[in-house]
Amino acid sequence: MAKSSAPARKTKRPPRTMPREKARALYEALSADRPDPHTELEFINPFTLLVAVALSAQATDVGVNKATRGLFAVADTPEKMLALGEEGVAAHIKTIGLWRNKARNVIALSQLLIDEFDGEVPDTREDLTRLPGVGRKTANVVLNEAFGQPTIAVDTHIFRVSNRTGLAPGKTVDEVEAGLERVTPDEFRHGAHHWLILHGRYVCKARKPECWRCVIADLCKFKPKTPDPATVSSLGPKGP
Ligand code: SF4
Repeated sequence: MAKSSAPARKTKRPPRTMPREKARALYEALSADRPDPHTELEFINPFTLLVAVALSAQATDVGVNKATRGLFAVADTPEKMLALGEEGVAAHIKTIGLWRNKARNVIALSQLLIDEFDGEVPDTREDLTRLPGVGRKTANVVLNEAFGQPTIAVDTHIFRVSNRTGLAPGKTVDEVEAGLERVTPDEFRHGAHHWLILHGRYVCKARKPECWRCVIADLCKFKPKTPDPATVSSLGPKGP
C-alpha cells in the first residue's frame, strides 16, 4: 500500500531586511545627525517614566508632558499616586485621550507595584507587561530608557520608517520589531529606538516625508523622493 504523505508545510519566511552593511551606514548617518537621542517624554524616575509612557498611547508627547508636569509634582511614587486616587489622577490628565481608562490603570499599576514589587519598577519585560495598561511597546521603552537595555519599541513612526526605507519591512509591528532586532548592529541597539522615532517624527513624516533634507536619503528605497518645495516653487508656474 502506498504511503500517504502529508504535503510539506510551508514555513513563512520573514520579510527581507536591508543588507547589514547598508543598515550600519543608515544608523551611522542617523547617529551623526543626533548624537544623544532621548525620549521627549518628561520624567523624574523609572516610575514616572512608566506612567508617562503608559499615558502616551494615542496622545502626543507634548500633550502628555503638559498633563504630567502637574501630576508628577504631587505624585512621583506609587504610594503618592495611590494617595491621590483615581479622581485626583483623572483631574490632571483630562486633556489627553482615553483619560478615564488611563487614570484607572495608573492607580491599578501603582497598587500592583506596591503589592508585588516593593514599590519599584521591575526591569524585565515579563514583569512589566503584568502591570495594567502596560503592553510590549511601553515595556520596551521603559527597559530602554530607564534600564539601558537594547530594546526597540515599534510605534507608528518606527513602523513607517522601517517600511519606507526597507530597513526592516513588515506588515505587523511584531514583524518589524523582529526585523530590526536582526538587522540593527549591536553598537546601535540602544539608540535605535530613539533615532528611528525622531527621524519619523521630524523628517520622514507620515503625510509628506521631507526627503530633500533627509540624511539617509541615499540609503532609503522609498520612491519617488519628495523634492525640496523651495526648488519646486522657484521653477515658477507651468507654462501654457
Ligand atoms: S528619503 Fe524620504 S522616505 Fe526615505 S527615510 Fe528619508 S524622508 Fe523618509
